[in-house]
Amino acid sequence: SWLTEVSPVLHAQEFQGCVLLMINVTSQQQAEKMRREFTGNVSHELKTPLQIISGYSELLCSGLTSMEDVPKFSEQILRESRRMTALINEILTLSYLDEAVNEESEPIDLYALSQNIIDELAMQAKKEKIHMKLDGSPAWIQGNPAMVRSILFNLIDNAIKYNRPEGSIRVQVSNSQSEEKREAIVRIEDTGLGILPSEQERIFERFYRVDKSRSRQKGGTGLGLSIVKHALRIHNGRIELSSVPDEGSVFTVSFPMVEMDTNSDQ
Ligand code: ADP
Repeated sequence: SWLTEVSPVLHAQEFQGCVLLMINVTSQQQAEKMRREFTGNVSHELKTPLQIISGYSELLCSGLTSMEDVPKFSEQILRESRRMTALINEILTLSYLDEAVNEESEPIDLYALSQNIIDELAMQAKKEKIHMKLDGSPAWIQGNPAMVRSILFNLIDNAIKYNRPEGSIRVQVSNSQSEEKREAIVRIEDTGLGILPSEQERIFERFYRVDKSRSRQKGGTGLGLSIVKHALRIHNGRIELSSVPDEGSVFTVSFPMVEMDTNSDQ
């Protein structure tokens, strides 16, 4: 009778320990697998531009290139070197985000930041005759300035890269208040290619691109949205996507909001 009373408890404890251990091992194995895949991808992604650069350089060095081809080849070399620089920068950002705790945190106005990014990307948009518009009002959050900037920068940059010529982009910044929470929201709407429902989750994976050649041509690396996802996680934020192929996409990011001390001005 003593045994029957005690042993189920013992069993339950043993079983619980066992299950926890298995989860732990699986997640370690998964993390290891992801790291291996990532390293494989990185070397592949770095090799491609290097091959193009050395291929065209060899052609130029051989002296067999006709003068009219020189600008075309040089342009390719320049474009691929820029891509490689972007890639290395994004890989560094990702590895930094992997370890990051939100150390450097300060108040950020998402409206002013969006305006700043739109100004910075104005030339790029003008080349494609894309019209950008910012609406809304100041919305303050507490966060790491570089990371929050890279979230909005990547999304607005994509809205340009995957838009149609003479398309438009609307960025809206707002505050939302419900009983449980207050949030600062940035909504980025484009009139571009759109994304099929089957691709909508995958585009947040590292190196995933719907159309490799378009992304390449636009200087993309396939890392932008995984940086967005990571940086949002660190800020307890979230992202939603709604998109219609051939019509456009809306990316909506939300951050928990901080109260600004407005009394200090009075
Ligand atoms: P990339 O460097 O290729 O832009 P991202 O991680 O930023 O990498 O995006 C991954 C892929 O998601 C892009 O290659 C593109 O196919 C798709 N994508 C991202 N943003 C948009 C958008 N606004 N409209 C349509 N497709 C998009």
